[in-house]
Amino acid sequence: MLKLIQNVKVYAPEYLGLQDVLLCDSRIFKIAEHIPAVEAYGVEVLDGSQKLLFPGFIDCHVHILGGGGEGSYHTRTPEIMLTDITLGGVTTVVGCLGTDGTTRSMASLLAKARGLEEEGITTYIYTGSYQVPIRTLTGNIVDDLILIDKVVGCGEVAVSDHRSSQPTREDFAKIAGDTRVGGILSGKAGLVNVHMGDGKRRLSYLRYVVEETEIPSSNMLPTHINRSVVLLEDAVDYAKTLGGYVDLTTSSDPDFLEEDEVKASTGLRMMLEQGVPENQITFSSDGQGSMPLFDKEGEFQGLGVGKVTSLYREVRDAVRTEGVNLTQALRTITSNPAALLKLERKGRIAAGMDADLVLVEENTMEIDTVIARGEIMVQDGKAIRKGTFQ
Ligand SMILES: [Zn+2]
Repeated sequence: MLKLIQNVKVYAPEYLGLQDVLLCDSRIFKIAEHIPAVEAYGVEVLDGSQKLLFPGFIDCHVHILGGGGEGSYHTRTPEIMLTDITLGGVTTVVGCLGTDGTTRSMASLLAKARGLEEEGITTYIYTGSYQVPIRTLTGNIVDDLILIDKVVGCGEVAVSDHRSSQPTREDFAKIAGDTRVGGILSGKAGLVNVHMGDGKRRLSYLRYVVEETEIPSSNMLPTHINRSVVLLEDAVDYAKTLGGYVDLTTSSDPDFLEEDEVKASTGLRMMLEQGVPENQITFSSDGQGSMPLFDKEGEFQGLGVGKVTSLYREVRDAVRTEGVNLTQALRTITSNPAALLKLERKGRIAAGMDADLVLVEENTMEIDTVIARGEIMVQDGKAIRKGTFQ
């Protein structure tokens, strides 16, 4: 099956100018200034004029199985549905467990990831949850990485948080070491996704690993670093002095941020201004986790669910409100997570890459079309392919 996107401004994520992009089955086949639509080949033509073409977005931290439960059982959040993901332009997700590694299991997480893949997107998972020792599928982290294709790392391991298992920094270094070795032996990233709480130890465990062991900073990605100004400042220092990678969480209520919380788009601008290299910053949504909701007066209304759609919202806000360069903003959800997760066919627009693409309106930057592995999931801003139970 051939699809041809004509006359579109391509951000790969770097700007490639006005191009035609030909897709063949699940891959990008060719990019050129003019590719004729040969009727005999049954090419489906998509008009890209007045539109921008981006790589499909990568969300490297989503509670696909549901999360929460921190206000007792009734606050466990529901499983994610396919269109919760695709309507946000996301074509690759990494699923994870969170606080609850008891009523949510690795087996269920793996099955959910496989289900979403069958429905058309690309999925991976981290092994473990907040808890230490890590509860894995096979008995240990290294074996999970080697034996289970979808496992690309470990997480989200909680540190500097009252909900963490309070591992010592040596415990934490061992987790990073095992994850790295499992990654090396399986040709995967071996990334530890680290949940950062608001505790005073901040990023000290990650500094310990980089400074006192042989494990490189590219094996760890601390997330929620925009939960407070103090933590964000520590993350800036960690990124600049130790070459650390840092992740900002996008799913907060933009009108009523929690005290001291920094909106991801604002955090991105601040980090770039302070000289953090642009390839060391990623965004993730924390989608489907529980999240406090407020009314217009700022009164607590109860719990809601974090949205994957916040991922691109923050990229768009970074460009339109914060004045961040479009390519720099896009990197946080395309080429940067792809490189860190070693997803070789993801996160870029080039011949041979997976045909994961997002078309947005040039004027409004609203999502128009989402293509995952060559199949149209969203068209005219509406989901045309739905999940099994939607
Ligand atoms: Zn978390």
